[in-house]
Amino acid sequence: MDYREVTTTAEYLGRFETGEDWRQQIESFAGEVDADAAWFMAMGAVQDAELWFYDQDDKEYYPVEFDEPLEVASCTGNISWLDGDRFAHTHAVLSREDGSTVAGHLNAGTTFAGELYLRVFDTELNREFDDVTELDLWL
Ligand code: ZN
Repeated sequence: MDYREVTTTAEYLGRFETGEDWRQQIESFAGEVDADAAWFMAMGAVQDAELWFYDQDDKEYYPVEFDEPLEVASCTGNISWLDGDRFAHTHAVLSREDGSTVAGHLNAGTTFAGELYLRVFDTELNREFDDVTELDLWL
């Protein structure tokens, strides 16, 4: 485990805008508050979603699209820098009317409504290509 000790410098509560992309809203908010490293939790609902599944053999992300209203039963993620931009690495458990769920790496989703908690740390997280996993991992 590669690790560092961090101290919280700020905490925020935010409400998502209807009709805008879930992940992009987190990224633009992180930019607004100059977060170079942060962790977040969120909940709410989306009108559609695109999850990415990382195939560990192919070393490729494969998208799975859901064009239906889904509850964001749980969403967690973090903010770091990737290729010069803030990146919100976002995972979510999304639920349907019957209570069944789909889950994974949330690339995109049109927000219906949502609430965000963001905790900012006194460090800067950067992602770089990892030869073993072929993922962009924290340095
Ligand atoms: Zn992921």
